[in-house]
Amino acid sequence: MKVCEHLKRANGKTLFTIEILPPLKGENIRNLFDNIDPLMEFKPPFIDVTYHREEYVYRKKDGGLLEKSTTRKRPGTVGICAAIQNHYKVDTVPHIICGGFSKEETENALIDLNFLGVDNILVLQGDAIKSEARFVPEPDGHRFASELLEQVVKMNKGIFLDDELQNTTPTDFCIGVAGYPEKHFYAPNLKTDLKYLKLKVDLGAEYIVTQMFFDNKKYFEFVDKCREAGINVPIIPGIKPLTGKGQLTILPKTFHIDIPEDLADEAEKCTDNKAVKELGIQWCIEQSKELIKAGVPTLHFYSMGKSDPIFRIAKALF
Ligand SMILES: Cc1cc2nc3c(=O)[nH]c(=O)nc-3n(C[C@H](O)[C@H](O)[C@H](O)COP(=O)(O)OP(=O)(O)OC[C@H]3O[C@@H](n4cnc5c(N)ncnc54)[C@H](O)[C@@H]3O)c2cc1C
Repeated sequence: MKVCEHLKRANGKTLFTIEILPPLKGENIRNLFDNIDPLMEFKPPFIDVTYHREEYVYRKKDGGLLEKSTTRKRPGTVGICAAIQNHYKVDTVPHIICGGFSKEETENALIDLNFLGVDNILVLQGDAIKSEARFVPEPDGHRFASELLEQVVKMNKGIFLDDELQNTTPTDFCIGVAGYPEKHFYAPNLKTDLKYLKLKVDLGAEYIVTQMFFDNKKYFEFVDKCREAGINVPIIPGIKPLTGKGQLTILPKTFHIDIPEDLADEAEKCTDNKAVKELGIQWCIEQSKELIKAGVPTLHFYSMGKSDPIFRIAKALF
């Protein structure tokens, strides 16, 4: 079933949903299921699965020379979606990115997903390759999420890349996109960023999932600004608990977000990461309570490979 249907059927009740990462190459899918199993108690109607593009790796050769190659450390997004749907009978939302894909490869991936009975996709530009300063599209790929979205919308109308194809069967994907309460880091300002977010919605995105935030005020202001800009689709808040002191610097650096002063000050006072995790869980519970009170469609938790803090939070809320 489509995400939009799930949101409609919830009838104003806030749902519990999660985003998971494919396991590292070589790991067993059982480990992933062990992580998801406890969260099934809270009946997530859909699970997002991230997509991770290739990275450059350098290996030392005889004589000390470095050999450069590429590898994908977390492959398996499409297979994991099918495995989750099969194992838990829960809908999945694979993330589909522009980076590393030609239009033809995108089309083929969407055909696979369609055949596997996946009804949803989150359409994204995707992260830049780790060692590259900026996102670089493939020569025959898409630069922006809006361009990739246009390709999916066309496929939903039965229009494939080969315009000589006859009697095609249209796909029927429900399309989500990303939004940034604290502005996307490439955007010169929030107004410009919202202009492109509106473009994605005007082209056919049916809902928005936000980047993580630790201050609900940022989310509420973002929703207000979206509505003023004429963006009227559901805006799903993405959240995660702080679980270690190192995240005080890693999260702002990686995701271009702020950690509120109160939370950062309290975390600094903690003597170990166990205490930071406890603080982070309590902060996230309070954040979630306020978001539920405001009637958000679903609380979407970024699990980042660890379900135990999410379990504690969900247990306190649902
Ligand atoms: C909920 C969520 C899930 C994510 N999942 C993944 C994942 O699974 N894998 C992964 O690699 N990354 C993921 N990301 C990261 C995301 O891919 C990066 O943040 C990326 O840099 C931006 O993606 P986007 O889809 O928002 O890009 P876009 O919507 O393409 O926007 C990118 C930037 O370009 C600007 N822009 C957009 N359109 C235009 C235009 N036509 N002309 C000029 N400027 C424009 C925007 O303002 C923005 O600054 C996720 C992010 C979020 C919030």
